[in-house]
Amino acid sequence: MIKFENVSKSYKGEKFALEDINIDIKKGEFVFLVGSSGAGKSTFIKLLLKEESPTTGRIIINDIDTTELSRRKIPKLRRSMGVVFQDFRLLPNKTVYENIAFAMEITGNKAKDIRRKVPTILSMVGLSDKAKSYPSELSGGEQQRVGIARAIINNPALLIADEPTGNLDPKNATEIMKLLKDINNRGTTVLVATHAKDQVDKMMQRVIALDHGKLVRDVERGLYNDAK
Ligand code: ADP
Ligand code: ADP
Repeated sequence: MIKFENVSKSYKGEKFALEDINIDIKKGEFVFLVGSSGAGKSTFIKLLLKEESPTTGRIIINDIDTTELSRRKIPKLRRSMGVVFQDFRLLPNKTVYENIAFAMEITGNKAKDIRRKVPTILSMVGLSDKAKSYPSELSGGEQQRVGIARAIINNPALLIADEPTGNLDPKNATEIMKLLKDINNRGTTVLVATHAKDQVDKMMQRVIALDHGKLVRDVERGLYNDAK
């Protein structure tokens, strides 16, 4: 579903943020994208969302070469992806229910479908009893559950989580990783960019490691670092 072919990216005049990356991610996979700060994880995600374009190479998503994609087709590409952020990015003046419903409204869903689907997703992420709460009334872990619910409400083929546990304590972080794996088990391809070593080690999933823009490791079921 995602193919990077000899992808390099350098922001104007700078050294490579990503250099000659070749990756193939199949539908239904759960993938950790790991690396320390500056390794190129955010750049990788921006290329997927076509917020940035590669300097050289091709990115193919669902058989479409996104490097050739016309501007008017970018929104459709982005709608095929849900994004979860480290800082949650919830709307502070909307309730939990409204935050999730809003993601369906802006993509033109019928009111009837919204009323049916939001409670289902709330129940799936374990927040049925918080539907009427505002984000400021929730714990970090709960806020991230809302972020995840919002990201999957429109059934994206790919869920991208950018350092989703960065603002959470270890216990909540583990719960969030479990939830992401649950979503993956229901068929959604999941890509988690993180430097949370402990979490990655607990999950034993595919690990793609970046270091200074280079792909240094791609293992099927592995740890954050090479096992010594
Ligand atoms: P990570 O998400 O792993 O921390 P980034 O993709 O943000 O890594 O950064 C990779 C490299 O690209 C770093 O050297 C960073 O300074 C550089 N970089 C990222 N964004 C920009 C930008 N908009 N302009 C110039 N350089 C950038
Ligand atoms: P912007 O396009 O305003 O910079 P963001 O940086 O918040 O938006 O998100 C980038 C892309 O991620 C959006 O264009 C959108 O397609 C996708 N996205 C963000 N939030 C969600 C969400 N809750 N559900 C699905 N996709 C989302």
